[in-house]
Amino acid sequence: MSLRSYPPLEKWDDWTELESVAWPKRVERHYMLVPTTCFNCESACGLLAYVDRETLEVRKYEGNPEHPGSRGRNCAKGPATLNQANDPDRILYPLRRDGKRGENRWSRVTWDEALDDIASRIRHAIAGGRPNEVMYHVGRPGEDGYTERVLAAWGVDGHNSHTNICSSSARAGYQFWMGWDRPSPDHANADVILLISAHLESGHYFNPHAQRVMEGKARGAKLIVFDVRLSNTATHADHWLAPWPGSEAAILLAIASYIIGNNRYDREFVRRWWNWQEYMARHPERSEGSQPTRSFAVSAAQDDVSFEEFERKLRELYAPYTFEFAEKESGIAAATIEKVAELVASAGKRLSTHTWRSATSGNLGGWQVARALFLLNALLGAIGTEGGTFPNGWNKFVPRPMYMPPHPPKWNELTWPDEFPLSCNEMSFLLPHLLEDGRGRLEVYFSRVYNPVWTNPDGFSWI
Ligand code: SF4
Repeated sequence: MSLRSYPPLEKWDDWTELESVAWPKRVERHYMLVPTTCFNCESACGLLAYVDRETLEVRKYEGNPEHPGSRGRNCAKGPATLNQANDPDRILYPLRRDGKRGENRWSRVTWDEALDDIASRIRHAIAGGRPNEVMYHVGRPGEDGYTERVLAAWGVDGHNSHTNICSSSARAGYQFWMGWDRPSPDHANADVILLISAHLESGHYFNPHAQRVMEGKARGAKLIVFDVRLSNTATHADHWLAPWPGSEAAILLAIASYIIGNNRYDREFVRRWWNWQEYMARHPERSEGSQPTRSFAVSAAQDDVSFEEFERKLRELYAPYTFEFAEKESGIAAATIEKVAELVASAGKRLSTHTWRSATSGNLGGWQVARALFLLNALLGAIGTEGGTFPNGWNKFVPRPMYMPPHPPKWNELTWPDEFPLSCNEMSFLLPHLLEDGRGRLEVYFSRVYNPVWTNPDGFSWI
């Protein structure tokens, strides 16, 4: 939702509106409009708090037109923030457990008592050489890394995230491609938008992305959605594909094969940006019909013959991923996949793509979904282009903290167990099991916008 017009910035200090309940009298209300952020999902849209200048109460929230992501528009949860601020059942004071865990006996304590108790436990753990017994477990940070800075300043390697039950697989797929673990698609300027899951209604950065997807569609972009559900997003799609869960990568590989087999890829982009020389150095065996007259050393960067040999290999590698193969894996008709493949190929550098959780987190090996999806951008050269997909941070301003203390020279087995050296994020879902196995103990555990009992599949282990 959005307002048709917004209070102009220069009037935010003293904005006048008529009191609606006083109608038909024209009673004026004076407001300070204070920018704030909605915290009801990870999009972090901008809000304006309408603070009554007389009572200093927040009377309502509306969108902040100056916010670069949400641009004044919010979903219904944004203005509903007022309900949270005024909820009569909101938590007003701390409770301390009296009895044994699970006995449900609590007593009210003051904030000073609660903070002294927690702080002294943290202090004793650190002073006693047990910094790994302090852990901060976060779902939605929303604080630009502030807590991580505090932990580092304490010398505690205690940051734990929820990422391994969320976006870790997608991040891995992107990281291996480009060294950045997030994509930033330019949906608004794309000719073809390819989404895996329901970004218009519930995906990561839902509202800001949804706005750009709709702008792209208004420009004439075609929308392709892979989603097992007929989501609201899928209802807006030109092509909705509901593959069998876990088979998304097979379809993406078939599209890649089509692009490669029909020479629809951006040859100069691939030659310049792919590390094909390293690939050829590691796979010196010749493809069928090639002339074994050249060395494929890394130094052969500008060697046309070597690149052509690489192209032959690429065709050979992807040839098995036919539309029929994808149909067998996914249940989507080969003819439908072919239509979608042609659409993707026609996008050229204006292909914006995105996957985050859903198919990547819900399936074993889901990271290959992100990897196969970004392969399409890498083939078409639709990376860092108008209407393409950017590595996150390339096309937006990300303020850095003024000072980040060095990471403490400690290793925390509870978050990064040795036996998983390739994990991309903290192995957070193992925490209760590592504790049960005696791999460590916790003196202070605090979670933020994360409820593992509710969120994790084995929630009760966390109690
Ligand atoms: S999309 Fe809705 S809930 Fe999420 S931050 Fe924006 S206004 Fe809040």
